[in-house]
Amino acid sequence: MIEETLFSRIVNGDIPADIVYQDELVTAFRDINPRTPTHILLVPNKVIPTVNDVSADDESTMGRLIVVAQKLAQDEGIADDGYRLIINCGDHGNQEVYHLHMHLMGGRPLGPMLTRKQTD
Ligand code: 5GP
Repeated sequence: MIEETLFSRIVNGDIPADIVYQDELVTAFRDINPRTPTHILLVPNKVIPTVNDVSADDESTMGRLIVVAQKLAQDEGIADDGYRLIINCGDHGNQEVYHLHMHLMGGRPLGPMLTRKQTD
């Protein structure tokens, strides 16, 4: 049996969340600690721990994440100004929850993606 995750419990309705979209492949809900005016997490309904675990069978699910992110950006009124989609992977990617998720972030200018450390 595949291990449950925090996000699979949200997908299944066992933990409350502000779900803004759900279909047979993906679920989207607002981040509990929003860093931008719009901060939505999009997750596959099935547990895929990280991008490293995506297989060819998951192509339609991964494509759906982008299509739904585009729709939600429209719904949120941020599509024209632009936004950022982020998938963190693993330790160096600072991934906190090991159920693959895409951050949809926008509603203000987001600045450069990463700031260079003085020592780099
Ligand atoms: P990561 O760092 O893994 O890419 O992002 C994990 C995200 O999940 C964080 O932005 C964090 O705020 C969010 N998060 C953690 N726990 C919960 C929760 O219980 N509910 C919701 N809606 N978001 C959560």
